[in-house]
Amino acid sequence: MNESNKKKKSTVCDSILDMNLVPSIEWGYSSGALVHQHVGEYTCYATVAYDSGALNHVTIGERGGPLKPGATIYYRVGDKVKGVWSDELEFTMAPPRGPSSLPYRLGLIGDLGQTEHSLETLDHIRFNNPDSIMLVGDMSYADGYHPRWDTWGRMVSEHTSRLVWMYTEGNHEIEASHDKYHTPDFLAYLKRFKMPFEHSGSHSQLYYSYDVAGAHIIMLGSYAKYGKDSDQYAWLEQDLMKINRRITPWVIVGMHAPWYNSNHNHYGEGEEMRTIMEPLLYQHGVDFIISGHVHAYERSEHVYDFRLDECGPMHINIGDGGNREGLDFDYYKQPDWSALREPSYGHGILDLLNETHAEFTWYRNKDSVPETSDIVMVLRNPNCRTAL
Ligand code: FE
Ligand code: MN
Repeated sequence: MNESNKKKKSTVCDSILDMNLVPSIEWGYSSGALVHQHVGEYTCYATVAYDSGALNHVTIGERGGPLKPGATIYYRVGDKVKGVWSDELEFTMAPPRGPSSLPYRLGLIGDLGQTEHSLETLDHIRFNNPDSIMLVGDMSYADGYHPRWDTWGRMVSEHTSRLVWMYTEGNHEIEASHDKYHTPDFLAYLKRFKMPFEHSGSHSQLYYSYDVAGAHIIMLGSYAKYGKDSDQYAWLEQDLMKINRRITPWVIVGMHAPWYNSNHNHYGEGEEMRTIMEPLLYQHGVDFIISGHVHAYERSEHVYDFRLDECGPMHINIGDGGNREGLDFDYYKQPDWSALREPSYGHGILDLLNETHAEFTWYRNKDSVPETSDIVMVLRNPNCRTAL
């Protein structure tokens, strides 16, 4: 510990760190037989007006080999020294990597927040039973008021304890700057969420990739540096080169700020990033780009550089999860690339059916049951997937 840290007034966080907690998971392949045990680490943070509780992270399945693909894992979380445990929970592991594990169902959420609309979105997405979730930023809308992270965590935990959720950060994860250079800071996001960025060679939790079934999924950071000389750009280039389309025929990119948006709100905000990175994603035949930020739904045709192009990705803006700021109603004249747009709350389901066919469905929240509001079958020409 250096001098300046020593002089700091002790916080609730310091006293939590002195408690020597032992975050633990017990798990097994059958209910009631949680024969494996793993211990992890905990952290916490303090701001001027807030002290977090203990934030626990335990990784299972690393030592002793990965967990069995497709298996149901029964587990409980707690502290093995204190003997305090949760109820038994369960989740299903991802199937083996490769196209033989298709079909695979991805649930798509953006700008979730914690309103009555958020709850409706979660209810409806559970009804559709996806295999995992991509949440493309704007989660709790804490905006620096940290108790909102705790209420959001409680709201989603019945879902996140049973289903894998993968995240990328939105502007509402940005904290008021903690340094004099006004560097965007993601204090709560980085302390609370652990995405497996090192596994994809990324140096930052703000962008990473992973494989699931027949899909390679890239989570980009709209609020990390993305210029041609940036670490994110260099990493993306490498990551795209490593893709083997025979193993992961589908390549899906998630990010927060859309590159294709005809709504008045946030219009043009993704444009700088698009001009820098779009050629790269196009060359590698990316199939879908999922974004949020605009609080409405919009789906594009296959497009590249604002022109219709069979080999361009389809953009899906799903920033309609249920945030507290409301919907974005005002649009420009509908461009050719825009297939459908509507300011309603909802969520998306992307069914990767086989190597070449996928079906995307948007579900609007309006009714008491999930209502199919847009549905499109996507047939990918394999020639579009050859790197140029
Ligand atoms: Fe938002
Ligand atoms: Mn946003």
